[in-house]
Amino acid sequence: MSSKKRDYYEVLGVSKDASLNDIKLAYRRLARKLHPDLNKTDPKAKEKFIELQEAYEVLSDENKRQNYDRFGFSGVHVDMSDYFSGGIPGIDELLKSIFGGFGSFGGFDDFGFGGFGSRTRGRSTPRREVGQDLEDRIEITFEEAMFGIKKDISIERYTPCDECEGTGAEDPSSIKNCPECQGTGRIRKMSQSGFGTIIRESECYTCNGTGRIIEKKCKACGGKKVVPEIKTIHVSIPEGVENGVHLKVQGAGHVPSVNAIPGDLYLGIRITGDEKFIRRGNDLYTPANVDIVTAIIGGKINVPTLDYKEKKLTEKELTIPPGTQPGTEFRIKNRGVSYIRGRGRGDQYVIVNIEIPRKISEKQKELLQKFRELDN
Ligand SMILES: [Zn+2]
Ligand SMILES: [Zn+2]
Repeated sequence: MSSKKRDYYEVLGVSKDASLNDIKLAYRRLARKLHPDLNKTDPKAKEKFIELQEAYEVLSDENKRQNYDRFGFSGVHVDMSDYFSGGIPGIDELLKSIFGGFGSFGGFDDFGFGGFGSRTRGRSTPRREVGQDLEDRIEITFEEAMFGIKKDISIERYTPCDECEGTGAEDPSSIKNCPECQGTGRIRKMSQSGFGTIIRESECYTCNGTGRIIEKKCKACGGKKVVPEIKTIHVSIPEGVENGVHLKVQGAGHVPSVNAIPGDLYLGIRITGDEKFIRRGNDLYTPANVDIVTAIIGGKINVPTLDYKEKKLTEKELTIPPGTQPGTEFRIKNRGVSYIRGRGRGDQYVIVNIEIPRKISEKQKELLQKFRELDN
């Protein structure tokens, strides 16, 4: 509650001689406006709603209203501190519990207000405002993508202004009821037509329907309620991450108000290429040059591979059998990419590229000619 308690009639936006029905209508209208589920942009939504609830509890009760009219706040004892201890119920549930399920005010006098708070105790809390998501990018190397990496990154996001506690006002007293709509956030316009008087209701343009205006804006945020913040967050990039995917970092997005659920950060992953490896799903393909003699008579070559124990790129010796053909694939099991979900990893395929020498010596030429003669 703000330091200065507002008059109950002012809170409901009704006159001192308002009928009970007027009060009910005003409450219903404002409840739909101020309920924290619906009034998501306002950091003080809950506070305003409780203020409304309190005003309604007093003015809708004939005895309490009389006491209030005669003695002011000291004439009524309303303790709201425990009122919504089970969380503010959803707007429909709330109105139903107050006005009954009839959709009209029939049977209205029978409702029991006192039991209402306890009836809803333990219910799930209402939906809270959710901040906008952020998007950012990060470049990582092939090795980092293969083995996973933890990185600190800086993000810029909006967070509630500390100076004004997210209200946008220099101090609580400079948040005033909108004079245009008397705090209801709605404007009623009456016009005459051939059919009689037409009442049109619309959102108040002075306060944008919030019912409040800020006389002195907070200097730190200029009344915007939020300020930019540079934050370092620790992200854990899982091993086997794919190029172009977006990792969700929960809660690292914008924070629009004090009670809001922060948005999420979507971190786009860009893997700087490594031409030694071609990824297809969870398998890796490695082109390997094999000289012509090794291809014919067999031998050993070294191929790059991933060492998951040491978490580094390494080389592995591969036996090339005699008579290996161009394009032959050799499979190295479990040396592919880790599955992000589930265990194990793909395989590595070494694809043989046989190098035909572009230039040979006279001696080599002689020997090859002899080789051909022997072959025939
Ligand atoms: Zn207004
Ligand atoms: Zn501020």
